[in-house]
Amino acid sequence: MVLGVDVGGTKVAVAAVDGVSATHAAEHPTVTVSTDALLDGVEHAVRGVIDQAGEPTAIGVGVPSQIDYATGTVESSVNIPLTGVSLRSELGGRFGVPVFVDNDANCAALAESRIVGVDDLVMLTLGTGVGGGVVIGGATFRGAHGLGAELGHITVNPDGPPCPGNCPNRGCLEAYCSGQALERDATEVASDRPESALAGRLGDDGKVSGRELVRAADDGDPDALLLMENFARMLGVGIASYVNVFQPERLAIGGGLSRASHLFLERAVREASARALPALWRRVTIALAEGGADAGVIGAGVLAALETAPDRDTELPKATTTEGIE
Ligand SMILES: [Zn+2]
Repeated sequence: MVLGVDVGGTKVAVAAVDGVSATHAAEHPTVTVSTDALLDGVEHAVRGVIDQAGEPTAIGVGVPSQIDYATGTVESSVNIPLTGVSLRSELGGRFGVPVFVDNDANCAALAESRIVGVDDLVMLTLGTGVGGGVVIGGATFRGAHGLGAELGHITVNPDGPPCPGNCPNRGCLEAYCSGQALERDATEVASDRPESALAGRLGDDGKVSGRELVRAADDGDPDALLLMENFARMLGVGIASYVNVFQPERLAIGGGLSRASHLFLERAVREASARALPALWRRVTIALAEGGADAGVIGAGVLAALETAPDRDTELPKATTTEGIE
């Protein structure tokens, strides 16, 4: 039995994972006042599940952070205080079993590939930012040190707006297809045109949230529909590139914004189909992610199971201690 842990910006979810099913699930608020308090909170959440489900053989952990995979050290973490923390050894020491740490979007992609039974998959998670993961031959693609694949940071317009992520670039996919990008554009329309319907949706913080923009589009507001059209077009540009590079069997779209897919998915697919190389496009399925809210937990559990499988050396590059990481 393995445990999956999904450390999010607002909650820590833990469950026992068997295959792609999660049991004994529990959720606790993420404590972000300090690193120690956060780790204590994660330990408390995990111990609660162990009390119910029994001792695991391994624990997988997904975090919204850049991870040096071999050491399980957090390279950078924007929303939770984990930057520089050697999470793998910190948690391994607390539980006395092997711990494997990966980026949460990588975990979600791994879960999705197992849930739909596809070994070559690209998954995009559209939320506040744009995350993503790539599964190749059933294993997570992470690049040399585990910091890949940052799918939200491909350039779709070299002269585009500054990337809202922790990123020096302009015109990244995340600068167009994220909740932050929608909020930026909707707020700009609202402040340029006080008589617009979007101006009526300004919040107390002086911004039109992505959620309000989606509501306005659902109500047929032309400004909101135009912004969603641009969102969809840029998403299609990105999808075509991922299909051309990875030739996935399936490209899945998840994340909170995927709930508004009726406003962009068809248009995005049309854009991508006009741009992707035909032989590759014919062989790919674009679909909403089938993994639900517990995909992060399941993916973390699948990761732990994969890493500790008896025939694991033939399945995945081994996570060994590395030296000389800058
Ligand atoms: Zn970027």
